[in-house]
Amino acid sequence: MNTPIKSERQGTDTPMLNVLTHHIGGKPHAGSGFQAQDVFNPATGAITARVAMANAADINAAVAAAKAAFPAWADTPPIKRARLMNRFLALMNQHKDELARAITLEHGKVFSDAQGEVDRAIDVIEFACGMPQLLKGDFTDQVSTGIDNWTLRQPLGVVAGITPFNFPVMVPAWMYPVAITAGNTFVLKPSPIDPTPTLIVARLMKEAGFPDGVFNVVQGDKVAVDALLTNPDVTAVSFVGSTPVANHVYETGARHGKRVQALGGAKNHMVVMPDADIPKAVDALIGAAYGSAGERCMAISVAVLVGSAADSVMPALTEATRALRVGHGMETRSDMGPVVTDAARQRIRGYIDRGVEEGAALVVDGRCLSVPGHQNGFFLGGTLFDHVTASMSIYREEIFGPVLAVVRVKTLDDALQLVNSHEFGNGAVCFTGDGNVAREFTRRAQVGMIGINVPIPVPMAWHGFGGWRRSLFGDMHTYGEEGVRFYTKQKSVMQRWPTSMGKGAEFAMPVAR
Ligand code: NAD
Repeated sequence: MNTPIKSERQGTDTPMLNVLTHHIGGKPHAGSGFQAQDVFNPATGAITARVAMANAADINAAVAAAKAAFPAWADTPPIKRARLMNRFLALMNQHKDELARAITLEHGKVFSDAQGEVDRAIDVIEFACGMPQLLKGDFTDQVSTGIDNWTLRQPLGVVAGITPFNFPVMVPAWMYPVAITAGNTFVLKPSPIDPTPTLIVARLMKEAGFPDGVFNVVQGDKVAVDALLTNPDVTAVSFVGSTPVANHVYETGARHGKRVQALGGAKNHMVVMPDADIPKAVDALIGAAYGSAGERCMAISVAVLVGSAADSVMPALTEATRALRVGHGMETRSDMGPVVTDAARQRIRGYIDRGVEEGAALVVDGRCLSVPGHQNGFFLGGTLFDHVTASMSIYREEIFGPVLAVVRVKTLDDALQLVNSHEFGNGAVCFTGDGNVAREFTRRAQVGMIGINVPIPVPMAWHGFGGWRRSLFGDMHTYGEEGVRFYTKQKSVMQRWPTSMGKGAEFAMPVAR
């Protein structure tokens, strides 16, 4: 799979690096261009491979392979498609640690977190194995004398998935298992920052016995995405990534006649009421703010402390933030790994500088952390701001790093006002011991996913995932039954047989007789 091809960047003094290629029509595909970019281990700062970057010709080759595979695949009985998905499920379970290791070495998150990511991917694969039941249509006998009416759902054709760096196994699995068992063929364009896990998935899909062309992977970035969005043979696009790119994908895809769901960025608030179990709320905040170095779309990046909660939360939160163990993700003692790239680290440091300039109180400063033995890694320490206000850029914008902003408010109404006025509406969480507060919060928070005393409420595979406002463009959530609807179109059939037909032409609108 990882064919060692000499790339244009490598001179005679540079050690030969693997070039990670595409996977098209069931085979590794080197691509037709010479563009490639470095892949790093963020914990060491070392370049570990190069990844080929697809051009329009490579995208067209992948779409053509998927298009060629579609008729036979769509015609394959759903139970047979599901059986192949079942084989793939077994392989994913067998190769869980191989996948998790590959995630840690290119993304940086700690190994146990990467294992959890693979587990959540497996949940959706399991869900997709039930596709025959999910595709079952409905039927009405005798809508008129001698006439029956039923609906069925049919696949769309070639569908594409475009995914972010932060969950290289889980987020693609929100898409392809559902799309493929529903009878579509798939072209996945993962993030070029951590391409290896997806190539392992492609290998396992092949080993499971999916026909060539059903699942394809093209590496690349904007050029590849734009070629997918304008290719007339792509019928639908699922996107997960930052809001500006989600907006671009949604508009461009729709302009080219495609069905699009585009999930964007987030700024998830955790509201802590004075009656909450404070030690548990602090544990939850620490894990949800700094787990995966804050690089989760469901990370908590704002803590809204209501009334006297601030006095009890802040000392414990400060102490726990200082105590975070930051290190290489393969070291079991690490709570948090590096951020994904040096550019990400610079961006996050820039936000911390701005927070200070804008007058927030910097309680714990992670800007200058150095990890012994890994001085070239892209590390940052956990950073905690207090007295943040809604006008500050560290409150308004998505930082996507280990930075937690604390806002102090007087009442639950004030907290809800913050949640509901923010640009993003992905998730929101409330820690409380009061059932009425929990109920009010659940009903009134204007976001797609709510947690009550659950810090990262990522819905299970059969419930579907998605935010509101500028956290999701399109009207359907990903996976779950919404995912099945997204990847299929409804057909309604009315049928009768000659014995029940009337005589002569009818010019009035047909009605039930
Ligand atoms: P990103 O938007 O930079 O990249 C996402 C995908 O788009 C990648 O495949 C990338 O190659 C491609 N891309 C990047 N720039 C592009 C451009 N200008 N035109 C076309 N395609 C482009 O996101 P990222 O940095 O990889 O991931 C982090 C972001 O993803 C965060 O904003 C995070 O909140 C978001 N995210 C959201 C969810 C969700 O479910 N809402 C889940 C995970 C991540």
